[in-house]
Amino acid sequence: MTPELWVETHSYLRPVAELCAQVDGAAAGIGVPDARIPDWEDYRADFLAGAPLLSSADAAVDLEPGGRMAAALIERLAAGTSSGSLAAEALALATELRREPHVSRRIADFLLGDETVTLPFPGLLRYVGWTAMARFLRPVVHGFASWRDEERWLRRYCPTCGSLPAMAQLAGVDPGRKRLLSCGCCGTRWQFKRTGCPFCETDAQRIASVTIEGEPGLRIDHCESCAGYLKTYVGEGQETVLLCDWSSLHLDLIAHDRGLKKLAASLYEFEPRATSGAVV
Ligand SMILES: [Zn+2]
Ligand SMILES: [Zn+2]
Repeated sequence: MTPELWVETHSYLRPVAELCAQVDGAAAGIGVPDARIPDWEDYRADFLAGAPLLSSADAAVDLEPGGRMAAALIERLAAGTSSGSLAAEALALATELRREPHVSRRIADFLLGDETVTLPFPGLLRYVGWTAMARFLRPVVHGFASWRDEERWLRRYCPTCGSLPAMAQLAGVDPGRKRLLSCGCCGTRWQFKRTGCPFCETDAQRIASVTIEGEPGLRIDHCESCAGYLKTYVGEGQETVLLCDWSSLHLDLIAHDRGLKKLAASLYEFEPRATSGAVV
């Protein structure tokens, strides 16, 4: 399965697919500075206490080069021939950012959720910024996954960046089947309990599932306690397409029509009536 094949059978996703392809294409042309891999033992105490890696002073991952990549990506999109409103919005954002002192540091703080940092076009900046930052962080995310004992985390937020999940995945077969949560920002996947809601922690939570006709690999799991839902990829091997969030924006529409709440941390916003999948 490729994004192109997916869009052939889900033509209403074409606008969002094209936007993602433009941003990913521009990002691929930007050099990736080396990220310093933390000394994992320095971070162990914070990890056991539930502090995400990127907010740990002991792990001391410097995100400033990733912020610099994000600023470079915005400039590239602003200068490019991207279609639709992307080039115009990227140009307006780039113009504003050129006036900001310490812009790469501020972008990094903004992406990590520092609410004291206000920057223009926050939706576009979050989407484009995380596209760049995730590329910068890839070796760190990879090294962290090798070191981390999943059984010692099992928390509802991302062990790397602290975001709530964008989606979930059921991987493997019973009795060893695992439920992973997937971060839409930094790309980390981490293990979570099989039958729990990542959005509320009441004892009353019950998870129900909605299967989608014609989409055997996808379903909507929702909590009968808080009405939050999580799109879930059932299977392995098609993560690139089926865990990327934009490829299942039609499930968000189904969930919306059922009165369920989007509590997942998504970089994509959609208009309930426009299935063309307006983003950011
Ligand atoms: Zn994350
Ligand atoms: Zn819940």
